[in-house]
Amino acid sequence: MNVLIAGGAGFLGSHLCDFFISKNHKVIAVDNFITGKKENIKHLLKNKKFKFIKADISKNIKIPGKIDAVLNFASPASPKDYIKYPLETLKTGSLGTLNLLELARLKKAKFLFASTSEVYGDPLVNPQPEEYWGNVNSIGIRSVYDEAKRFSEAAVMCYLRDYGVKTRIVRIFNTYGPRMNEKDGRAIPEFISQALAGRPVTVFGSGRQTRSFCFVSDLVKGVYKLLMSDYKYPVNIGNPNEITLKELAEIIIKLTASKSKIIYKELPQDDPKMRRPDITKAKKILKWLPDVQLEDGLRETIKYFKSL
Ligand code: NAD
Repeated sequence: MNVLIAGGAGFLGSHLCDFFISKNHKVIAVDNFITGKKENIKHLLKNKKFKFIKADISKNIKIPGKIDAVLNFASPASPKDYIKYPLETLKTGSLGTLNLLELARLKKAKFLFASTSEVYGDPLVNPQPEEYWGNVNSIGIRSVYDEAKRFSEAAVMCYLRDYGVKTRIVRIFNTYGPRMNEKDGRAIPEFISQALAGRPVTVFGSGRQTRSFCFVSDLVKGVYKLLMSDYKYPVNIGNPNEITLKELAEIIIKLTASKSKIIYKELPQDDPKMRRPDITKAKKILKWLPDVQLEDGLRETIKYFKSL
């Protein structure tokens, strides 16, 4: 296949580029570097199966030639980033998604959208199945991201119903691994950077909020299986192993052999109290299950952060 990966210089996008190339597909990565990095794709730039185009998907983008699949992974993804770039996030998750859907329609390509567990907001049910409609604050500080993702899902369903585009929606739960941006404020890169530098590890709130962390290699396999399947409705991909943020901080301090202490700071607005995917659909339809244990994935990630 010729696969277009929007957001290809980002954390997840760059791992997807590697994966598709390893499966002998050709990849065109599109990115405007708003939160991504050239270093993430540097190793691919001389590969004949890889092409990079610097472009903003929320502007009019034209891609010549045959495309068999469009994967939309472009969007600031960490709360720190989308709060810093609110309008860019809204435009990327609305105009950007519409532009790529139109491209997929014209090229008769499959379209896969990277949605998020944030569409469930601060959930009132745990774990969250795909049928749950969510508890989202449409005017809160996180709404530029959450509502853009919800708009994108609506746009995807419109192109499926009205234009017959072969669409897929993956709802990604917290994913981590090498190439995360150490400064993007997400718990794992933040805790690792703090622990490696011997600075206090800052946990927001009481640290009793829970999250479920999926290692990037598991996520990429799930995305690939979804693209290759015939399933057109949203599928949760994530690791259902739920831990508190305090426990996460303790594990990272242990694995980095750090002397850092945990300190607590005020909880940001609308921070979800719990997050855990119900992955029944992924198991049944895609025969997908996460493989990598948290401590193993964290060791790989710590190794990467040490190398920077
Ligand atoms: P990231 O910030 O590392 O990657 C996003 C990439 O998109 C960056 O390279 C950025 O420069 C690019 N981008 C943003 N706006 C763009 C635009 N208008 N045009 C072109 N490129 C643009 O974040 P990530 O963690 O790799 O997330 C990738 C996707 O997965 C995002 O859509 C995000 O919402 C989704 N997602 C990620 C997670 C996670 O845990 N990592 C969870 C849920 C959803």
